[in-house]
Amino acid sequence: MTTDYDLLIVGSGLFGAVFAHEATKIGKRCLVIDKRSHRGGNVYCEKIEDITIHKYGAHIFHTNDKFIWDYVNQFTTFNHYINSPVTLAKGRLYNLPFNMNTFYQLWGAITPEEARAKINVQIDRFGVANPANLEEQALSMVGKDIYETLIKEYTEKQWGRKATELPPFIIKRLPIRYTFDNNYFNDTYQGIPVGGYNKIIDGLLEGTEIRLNTDFFDDRSYFESLAETIVFTGKIDEYFDYQFGELEYRSLRFENEIINSSNFQGNAVVNYNDATVPFTRIIEHKHFEFGKQPQTVITKEYPESWSSKKEAFYPVNDKKNQAIYKQYCLMAKDSKVIFGGRLAEYKYYDMHQIIASAIRKFKTEYCETK
Ligand code: UDP
Repeated sequence: MTTDYDLLIVGSGLFGAVFAHEATKIGKRCLVIDKRSHRGGNVYCEKIEDITIHKYGAHIFHTNDKFIWDYVNQFTTFNHYINSPVTLAKGRLYNLPFNMNTFYQLWGAITPEEARAKINVQIDRFGVANPANLEEQALSMVGKDIYETLIKEYTEKQWGRKATELPPFIIKRLPIRYTFDNNYFNDTYQGIPVGGYNKIIDGLLEGTEIRLNTDFFDDRSYFESLAETIVFTGKIDEYFDYQFGELEYRSLRFENEIINSSNFQGNAVVNYNDATVPFTRIIEHKHFEFGKQPQTVITKEYPESWSSKKEAFYPVNDKKNQAIYKQYCLMAKDSKVIFGGRLAEYKYYDMHQIIASAIRKFKTEYCETK
């Protein structure tokens, strides 16, 4: 059977766009479809008051991998933004990630030795050898004071469930340092693309046919007939008709406000730890690009329960959902479809990991002799 395309790529987010780019480069005929009215998935940016807005939440690029850093730098210029969020807890501001500034703010600890001693006493008392959930992990990493002041309420608000019901790996994302270093990430390379992420997506998709406002599930058999191979970046449970049940996600709602002031909070990211505040953070977008505009745009990020009508943001990688995902994974292995990205792999991915995964999967498929 001859088909119109070699590859149909469902979804124009980072995974789909990188895959399309690599495939187009070696002469594959690709069609990318996306149900949204824009390309780029959740890295899509728009302008409000001449300020670049990360429409689907803050995206800060960071990686240790020089290859990935050079890869994204082909398409745009990155600035030198370093993410240094602060968090507001019970009326006081603390630096993140947990570092000497935080320890000073919490306990007045002045030297690393003092801070380490304080934390170690608490770890000895409350930590466990093999943490089975996020609470145990946090208590074993940073002790009780930090857990109760800066982690518990934020986490339970963000995920809509008890910290004892969440997997430990989520909190392992956060570094702990005994230096006065507020850089949220440990990676060698970090920055924000000047003017936003759209240029990267446009660069990746240059020369590739793309149809927006086009939902694969509106006419699945038609789309399946178009290409020899399908790359699917949507929800894996939807692809397999929910036959093993629905996977759960956590959703987010973003509320934008234009404010008639040049500087609302003095930082791009301020977390709101307390359970009494319904949002988890306020993003002031101009600070990602050191903006000097007369006005500012802020976004309040409200965590929400998820339903199939809402956007799926975070996979809930608890035991129940992982067991369901495993069943879909087995089906995926038996199919000829290539599944990739946060929704298809049901994984809490950062951008650099998605790019690496797309390149890896592309190479496995097209560059390795089988
Ligand atoms: N977290 C926290 N307090 C904070 C920030 C983060 O307890 O002020 C925890 C929370 O459990 C969150 C996890 O750390 O889910 C990872 O946070 P990160 O900022 O990496 O999440 P993302 O930016 O992906 O939402």
